[in-house]
Amino acid sequence: MLSCDQCIEYAEKKYSCPHCESVLSRCHVPPFHVGDGLGWGTEIFYVCLNDECKLFVNGWQSIENNYGHIGSYRYVLLPGSKKGEAMMVAGKQAFKGSEVNIEEMQATNKRHQQEKEAVDQLDSCVAEKNLEPVMFLILDEHANPKDREKAIGLLKDLNDLSCIDPIRNHSFSKPDMEHMVNMVILDLLKANFKKECPHCSEIIKLQAKFCKHCQQKF
Ligand SMILES: [Zn+2]
Ligand SMILES: [Zn+2]
Repeated sequence: MLSCDQCIEYAEKKYSCPHCESVLSRCHVPPFHVGDGLGWGTEIFYVCLNDECKLFVNGWQSIENNYGHIGSYRYVLLPGSKKGEAMMVAGKQAFKGSEVNIEEMQATNKRHQQEKEAVDQLDSCVAEKNLEPVMFLILDEHANPKDREKAIGLLKDLNDLSCIDPIRNHSFSKPDMEHMVNMVILDLLKANFKKECPHCSEIIKLQAKFCKHCQQKF
């Protein structure tokens, strides 16, 4: 199977159809493989989606003659192979709508890389007083929940109150994770003799009788 990086590399390449010269579309492979049952070995491939393509236009007649059913051929090229092949399709719509969105792929790939880097930094972040990877994971709803929980567990050791604001401004999709993070923040505030003002949420001294930010008394 190709890695994300390879997929993007392939997705950025351009090829043209030998039957009609038009640029091949980059498509996600269909979920099934009609050939040897070994799978595609790739997530993307190149397809000529030109409805005027000679291979496609002439394919209808040739399939009718040879197999007696309705269908045609699209020219497809697998990443890394020099020569493409004619793939049987049932109609005009085949492969349309499965075109690869490169920007989306690149964004997903970048996020995966950042997540991986953040996870790698977790073991050393307390010693380095580096809050960044911990916050990246806690605030990334797509990150692995196990890693996010581990990151939440490190907040107390990091003892950095600047973590509170971004967490308060984040909406967690999992209530148990939000609960977990709230408990840690309470501990963290207590350990630093602080509390959050119940009126304006600014962090103030535990002993304060009024808030220096909003002037409210308690
Ligand atoms: Zn073509
Ligand atoms: Zn206040």
